Amino acid sequence: MKTIFLDRDGVITVEGGGYVASPADIRYLPGALGSIARLNRAGWRVLIFTNQSGVGRGFITAQGLQVVHNRLCQDAQKAGAEILAVYSCPHKPGDNCSCRKPLPGMLLQAAEEHSLDLRTAWAAGDTPRDIAAAAAVGTRTALLLSGHTRAYEVATFGESPPTIVCADLPSLVDYLITTHS
Ligand SMILES: [Mg+2]
Ligand SMILES: [Zn+2]
Repeated sequence: MKTIFLDRDGVITVEGGGYVASPADIRYLPGALGSIARLNRAGWRVLIFTNQSGVGRGFITAQGLQVVHNRLCQDAQKAGAEILAVYSCPHKPGDNCSCRKPLPGMLLQAAEEHSLDLRTAWAAGDTPRDIAAAAAVGTRTALLLSGHTRAYEVATFGESPPTIVCADLPSLVDYLITTHS
């Protein structure tokens, strides 16, 4: 079964510069939930991997983040989409955890818990950190220009350039469904 990891902010939801502190703050990017439903129908498992240092910084509790993610999964279901699991890193930079992207800890944990093959999986994100985390474990990567990164510059990505660059999640899904089914 095909697998894709999606970053949250800038991929599914609007990267607004502030933390999403409650379900009322969630703003979806146009077509994002529908794109997940299209992936599911084409046989893809969809997981989320997201840095949420707002927890470590005290802007939201771990429980509050869980409430936000429960709502996100419910909203996805209403759009006919299934999110298999949500992995989030609650730590701050400097906490020396192994899960905060650009480290691949969340992907490794997901691979173990869901018996996934990371080398045939894809990951999509809007920052060099997302791309580096996935590249570190041999996962193919899509940089989406719908969040932090508005234009692709090779130099920013150093040794881990994305496999492909797409405008947003709907365009990536067009590509994956055309080329990987
Ligand atoms: Mg992001
Ligand atoms: Zn962490």
